[in-house]
Amino acid sequence: MTLHTLLLARIAQDGPLSVADYMTECLLNPTLGYYATRDPLGVAGDFITAPEISQMFGELVGLALAQAWIDQGRPTVFTLAEAGPGRGTLMADILRATRAVPGFADAARVTLIEASPVLQDIQRETLKDHAPVWVGSVDALPDAPLFFVANEFFDALPVRQFVRDGQFWRERCIGAQGNTLHFGLSAPALRPDLDHRLEDTKDGDLVEVCPAGQGIATNVGARIEAYGGAALIIDYGDWRSQGDTLQAVRSHAYADPLDNPGLADLTAHVDFEALCLAAPCAHSRVTPQGVFLERLGISARAEALSNSGQTARTDVLAAHHRLTHPTEMGNLFKILGLYPTKGTPPPGLEA
Ligand code: SAH
Repeated sequence: MTLHTLLLARIAQDGPLSVADYMTECLLNPTLGYYATRDPLGVAGDFITAPEISQMFGELVGLALAQAWIDQGRPTVFTLAEAGPGRGTLMADILRATRAVPGFADAARVTLIEASPVLQDIQRETLKDHAPVWVGSVDALPDAPLFFVANEFFDALPVRQFVRDGQFWRERCIGAQGNTLHFGLSAPALRPDLDHRLEDTKDGDLVEVCPAGQGIATNVGARIEAYGGAALIIDYGDWRSQGDTLQAVRSHAYADPLDNPGLADLTAHVDFEALCLAAPCAHSRVTPQGVFLERLGISARAEALSNSGQTARTDVLAAHHRLTHPTEMGNLFKILGLYPTKGTPPPGLEA
């Protein structure tokens, strides 16, 4: 059985799927889903992420989190949580870089939220010296100060897509013609949750909504407001989504999202405004990754790493360029910081 045949059977039984239901099946179906069955990261996989490009990324993110922890009075027990940790590389770099911060490692309870059993196994190995625990969702995090990071996690959460039709919205759905999957539109309906999008859209425009992402932002933000802490949400996207950003990537190339379900990575851009509206705490400006990393001192770190002889200078410079340059990841990727209303933004970010 392929996921394609399973989806055809489900559509025949229940009718067309929302884009969110389609993404959920493609990414997380327990036996045929993309993340359930493979490690997609790295040169040999389908895509490469910032922590996999260079250790500098995780080191600077770690030091920013540690400074935020110091700024909040060094709580003696806190949750150091990562959502969607991939191979565990970012968390390993955070923990190595913050060893030099007195008290941080002793106070941190390393907690991971990971849906993929394949990647959980890799994380267990990468982080075996740090006694991580896994929780099923942010709902299960302990009631404690929360320092939270997520890189390229929110883009993997399922989005619903709505096309404007007068004062109504039609949901984009996936149906079947014979054995071929294709997009269609549901009947027009009123959607009070999209009232604010009537201001900046016209007939035929498409907007995306990520209910899971909003729910996580609400939960994480409420914990940060109640117990202290900070979140760094790193992803591609922008302030307020507009247009169809559903994207499939396979072997480092774009693919049709309806081709080969379960075999390609599916993502959508993150609507950072929606996360800010959902989070009941303070939020920073959405800041380009290049600006954030330069403020945190990536150029000095690149220089030191080149001189240490650990990594070839040309490799360090190439990684620096890739992470920060506006034509590479520097502008496409953004950082959003969440922090307590009575606190200050994490380093590298502004209120
Ligand atoms: N942060 C890592 C990996 C990014 S890939 C890096 O930067 O390299 C997306 C990650 O999110 C993977 O670990 C994937 O398995 C996980 N993931 C995707 N959807 C998820 C969900 N609904 N719940 C928990 N983890 C999820």
